[in-house]
Amino acid sequence: MYRHTSIFILFFQLGIVSAQVNFTNIISYIAADSLEGREPATKGDTLTQNYLIQFFKNQHLTIKKQSFAFTFNQKTDSATNILAYCDNQQDSTIVITAHYDHLGWGNNKSREIIHKHQIHNGADDNASGVAMLLMLAKYLTSDSNQVKATYNYLFVGYGAHELGLFGSKYFVESEIAQKLKIKVALNFDMVGRLNKTNPILKIGGTIRDTCYNAFFKKYENEKLHFRLADEQLLQSDATFLYEKKIPTFTFTTGIHEDYHRAGDDSHKINYEGLTTIFRFMQAFLNAIAP
Ligand SMILES: [Zn+2]
Repeated sequence: MYRHTSIFILFFQLGIVSAQVNFTNIISYIAADSLEGREPATKGDTLTQNYLIQFFKNQHLTIKKQSFAFTFNQKTDSATNILAYCDNQQDSTIVITAHYDHLGWGNNKSREIIHKHQIHNGADDNASGVAMLLMLAKYLTSDSNQVKATYNYLFVGYGAHELGLFGSKYFVESEIAQKLKIKVALNFDMVGRLNKTNPILKIGGTIRDTCYNAFFKKYENEKLHFRLADEQLLQSDATFLYEKKIPTFTFTTGIHEDYHRAGDDSHKINYEGLTTIFRFMQAFLNAIAP
């Protein structure tokens, strides 16, 4: 018995270590200088899209690119949402989202005042959310997952968030979204800076729904506390789905001194914290399985 328990603990710990390595690999690619801050309609933007597409293809998901035009400061540009669908022949779908674009070489949304013209890598904003999106896609399509077939899943990487939530708005109004029966929508925006001494994950959205609320309360432990905060939804990609009365949650570890500045780099990410949030999301998804 003791031997079995220790083998189980060993595998569990190996799982945590490998998740942490995956998070590190994903974020170090997406938030590298070579992608130049992932501004819409740039080479870095295309490279990021290709990375997402390849990752989703590796999980055997069906990919669709959703291209659209958006206008900011009287200039019209194009951007793309990347959609990846897992069809389990079920009635309803869980939608999981994160924006992948950022501020390039410091556009209008940069908070740098003196040296604005620097690459803004956006490791927390929002390579961290994209990493969560990809890791959940991997988890929900893996053979060892018991709950994977109880819903269909749609994973969406939003483009053109930073200049005005254009990607999420376009998606919600699109025929694809309108046709789906959405069980719940989960959005991740800046989940990479979990505070080590006061580990709070902020949750906005349908937080007053008692069945979900009870789960959050029950799950809380010394590694993860929750703050249920409506205002977290305001500036997020979850807003438009929420307005359609779809059960919606957006998760964030909150704003910090590097927010929208050139110092938002991958070495400042709390990878252990990301893995803790990932474990919580797995438990959450398991809990809502019928
Ligand atoms: Zn941002």
